[in-house]
Amino acid sequence: MNPLLQVTDLETTFHTPNKDLTAVRNVSFSVDHGETLCIVGESGCGKSLTSLSIMGLLPAKGRITNGSILLGEEELTKQSEVQMEKIRGNKVSMIFQEPMTALNPVLTIGFQLRESLMIHRQMNKKAATVKSIELLNKVGIPSPRERLKQYPHELSGGMRQRVMIAIALACEPDLLIADEPTTALDVTIQAQILDLIDELQQEIGMGVIFVTHDMGVVAEIADRVMVMYGGEVVETADVDAIFEAPQHPYTKGLLHSVPDVDNPMQELKIIEGSMPGPDDKITGCRFHPRCPFAMEKCKQKEPPLFNLSPMHTSKCWLQEVTESESNTVIRG
Ligand code: SF4
Ligand code: MG
Repeated sequence: MNPLLQVTDLETTFHTPNKDLTAVRNVSFSVDHGETLCIVGESGCGKSLTSLSIMGLLPAKGRITNGSILLGEEELTKQSEVQMEKIRGNKVSMIFQEPMTALNPVLTIGFQLRESLMIHRQMNKKAATVKSIELLNKVGIPSPRERLKQYPHELSGGMRQRVMIAIALACEPDLLIADEPTTALDVTIQAQILDLIDELQQEIGMGVIFVTHDMGVVAEIADRVMVMYGGEVVETADVDAIFEAPQHPYTKGLLHSVPDVDNPMQELKIIEGSMPGPDDKITGCRFHPRCPFAMEKCKQKEPPLFNLSPMHTSKCWLQEVTESESNTVIRG
C-alpha cells in the first residue's frame, strides 16, 4: 500500500528584495496510515516550515520551489488555494502552539465546532451539537454544554488549546499535523491530549506528524523520528534506534540535552552555538561549526544522506565507513 503522505525533495524558499533564502531543502519522508512521525530539532531547523508547506499555509513570501507532496493520490503542490481549503480540515488538519491563530474570535465555540462537523461530516445541526459536546468531553473540557455558548476570549489559554484540538479532530482527518501543540500546557493536560490523539489514531487510523523539540514527548508517542538541522533532514530512524543507537552527532546532542530522570543532578549538556539561518553561508556539513566530531573534510564537502539500514539514514561523514561496506548511499 502507498504511504498516506509522501514528501519528496521538498524545497521552500523565501523571496526577499535582495535574494532568495532557502529555508527547507531536499526534505523527503513518508507517513503511513496510523503512524506517528515526530519531526524534531531546535527552533529554526525548518520543522514548522515543513509542516506549513504541507498545509499550504506558508507565511507571505514563502513558496515551495521544488519537490512533491503527495497526500494519497493528490499532489498538494499543484492545488489552488480553493482546493487546499477543502483539503485542509477534511483530509489534513493542523494544530498549533498558539490556538488564537486557528479560532475565530467573533464566533462561539459551539458555532465553530458545529460548522466543522456540518461541512466536513455532513451532520445536521442536532447531531453536530451532540458530537460537539462529546468532543469537548474527550479533550477534557468541563461543562461542555455551557462552553458551546462561549467565545474564545472567555476561555483560558489551555481551554482554547483543547477547543482547537477538538475542532481539528472533528472532521477525522487522514493526517493530523501537530506543531508543538502541548508546549504551553501543564503536564497533566499534555498527557491527556497525547492520549486523546493516540486514541483517535487507533479509532480512525489517522497518520500524525508531531513537531516538537521535546525528546520526552518523542519517546512517548513516536513510531519514527526525523531530525532536522539548518533546513535539512540529518537523521531518520524508528524511535527505538533514535534513542538506543543515534548516529548523527546533532541527534546525540539533542538527546544529551534531555534531563536524565535517574540522575537529575547531572549537568545538562546543551549543544553550544546556534542553528544557522537560511542566510548563513556554511560550506560542507551545515553542523560543522558546532560539531564535536568535525573533521577537515566536513568543512569542505557536504555529506550525503547515508543509508545505514532500510529504516535508518544519517547525513554525516562518520557514516562513510558503514556506507563503503554496504554501498548504499541514497541521496547527496
Ligand atoms: Fe559532524 Fe562532520 Fe558528521 Fe557534520 S559530517 S555531523 S561535522 S562529523
Ligand atoms: Mg516552530
